Amino acid sequence: MKLRNHSLIKRINRSRVMNVIRVNSPIARSEIAAETQLDRKSITNFITELLDEKLVIESGRKENISGRPYSLLKFADNFVAGIYIAPHLCRGVLIDFYGNIIASHEIEYPLYADLTTICRAVENIYHELGSVHVPEFGVGISMPGSLNLQTGTMEEAVNIPSLSGVNVRKTFSAFIDKPLFLEEESRSIALAEKWFGKGRNHDDFVVVEVSAGVGMGIVAGRRLFKGAGQYAGEVGHVVIEPDGRRCRCGNKGCLETYASEPAVVKALSEYGKCGFERLRYFPKNSISRKDYERVMNEVGYRLGQGLAAVVNILCPRTIIFSGAVIDLFGTAILAPVREGINRNSVKSNAGQTELFVSELEHVDALGAATLPLANIFEVPGYFYI
Ligand SMILES: [Zn+2]
Repeated sequence: MKLRNHSLIKRINRSRVMNVIRVNSPIARSEIAAETQLDRKSITNFITELLDEKLVIESGRKENISGRPYSLLKFADNFVAGIYIAPHLCRGVLIDFYGNIIASHEIEYPLYADLTTICRAVENIYHELGSVHVPEFGVGISMPGSLNLQTGTMEEAVNIPSLSGVNVRKTFSAFIDKPLFLEEESRSIALAEKWFGKGRNHDDFVVVEVSAGVGMGIVAGRRLFKGAGQYAGEVGHVVIEPDGRRCRCGNKGCLETYASEPAVVKALSEYGKCGFERLRYFPKNSISRKDYERVMNEVGYRLGQGLAAVVNILCPRTIIFSGAVIDLFGTAILAPVREGINRNSVKSNAGQTELFVSELEHVDALGAATLPLANIFEVPGYFYI
């Protein structure tokens, strides 16, 4: 790629310098030069600029072999926030530029809460996090649904009906006085894995989130694949059973009618003796080990059946799972998922794909927090970490 635009080249190089500091700090100027292959003068200019902007600070001194002292650099204490809006709760994290979670906060509300309740929860979380450190560099908000990123309007949110048709950018900007970034839930979870999780070392991978629905985020060449209209990844509506269970999308036999949180709650309730609405409240002693495993194996196999299409078409190196259903079953569900994939996809592809359960804490809110980070560390269209 030949870049003629000087300010664009400068922006890319500055992001590269920032990223080397992110991965290696505390770090010396000479090491940054070696890592980025930029000349000493450019490094000096960038570092002076970053020190002036108080993004970077000196962090102690060292001596080289000849006894000459040199200083080390690291990021100053600057913060961003991520807030995730779920159908039944809102969760936020405050992180530094390295991705360390400095504070987190969660507020529950009833399923299908109205817009005022949800806004109050988002606002409270924002203030709660801000009382620890102000997220000066921005706030990311993620939520499930068909979100139009150009207009900021939630076109349809089946699981949070009170957000449907709402311009969420305008609504949240009324009380968030820092730069605001939006993204759809599964895609922001994919970003969390890309920055901090199992996706860190892969160019291409997918993230599957199994909660109220089954969503997917696709990372290709270190950037999100969004598709036309930005709605790629609706794996939950892959039909796995012709004429099967009726789905909220209007079709029959969609994956999420067999493998989402409501489907699993229903299956476990049928075996168990007590009713519950969400998997985090599932009383494990209410059903036998055998019935519990039967449900897990069925759900896992169904997931694999739906994902076989993804494996056939994309052949991702890695699939990373998260969400309420995965939180319940843990890594034990990967065996039936693997079986479902193997039986329903071509061998050559299935053999390439590894399956993992996410190891990130608060992955949903963390994903939202990567949005303002990307605004600092990446150059859209040119440089992705
Ligand atoms: Zn459907």
